Amino acid sequence: VRLLQPLWDVVRAREGLLQSPFFPVLFSGATYTAFCLPFVVLDVVGARAPALRKYKIHPNFYPSAGQLLLCLLHTLYQHVVFILPVTALRWHWGPPSWPAAAPGLGELLSHVTACLLLFDAEFFVWHVLHHKVPWLYQTFHKVHHKNTAPFALATQYLSVWELSFLGFFSSLNPTLLGCHPLTTMIFNVVNIWLSVEDHCGYDFPWSTHRLVPGGWYGGVSHHDLHHRKINCNYAPYFTHWDKLLGTL
Ligand SMILES: [Zn+2]
Ligand SMILES: [Zn+2]
Repeated sequence: VRLLQPLWDVVRAREGLLQSPFFPVLFSGATYTAFCLPFVVLDVVGARAPALRKYKIHPNFYPSAGQLLLCLLHTLYQHVVFILPVTALRWHWGPPSWPAAAPGLGELLSHVTACLLLFDAEFFVWHVLHHKVPWLYQTFHKVHHKNTAPFALATQYLSVWELSFLGFFSSLNPTLLGCHPLTTMIFNVVNIWLSVEDHCGYDFPWSTHRLVPGGWYGGVSHHDLHHRKINCNYAPYFTHWDKLLGTL
């Protein structure tokens, strides 16, 4: 009996929802909002709680209500106008099949890790290109650099072009590796969490880069520095590509 079978059975029981063409965008939208919400609360109460300030990367910066609302509306608009039609169309052409058996735990962990490493490499190449070619930077990537001190809701403050590539990379890798649908869902949840953590503006003792040994993971401290300096730390998560290219 597979360890993940009970979890997979619970997910499969909601087949009506899973088969809906709106499921991908609802799933990623709800996950993104749920991960951003605690940081939005911290940003709102943080200004009045000095104990929290020692974890802030920019201790004197708190996003204004206007900045939070602008990012939220920007993300909502892009998801409804661009992402929803594309994912619905893709779903319509080839809705996924849902096998009865859950994936093995080892298979799930190795596939999620492989998807993250591939995503990191693909975005690294995209990101370097969009910084080195001035036209690409000005036209497609500059908007994400509007916030030099990032906060959680700034994670998806992106051009449609950039958001589309992020979506493409994150859906390509599970397909290439032949991942189980449960593995694909968990990879997407982890990927959304890590992208929000990269921008959250807080460096906690339990932040991912402090939990991964050997300095292999850059996370929030590295990506926050990218927003300030622009010419370093191009990889979103891991550090090996920046080490190899001398941009760490
Ligand atoms: Zn960023
Ligand atoms: Zn950048």
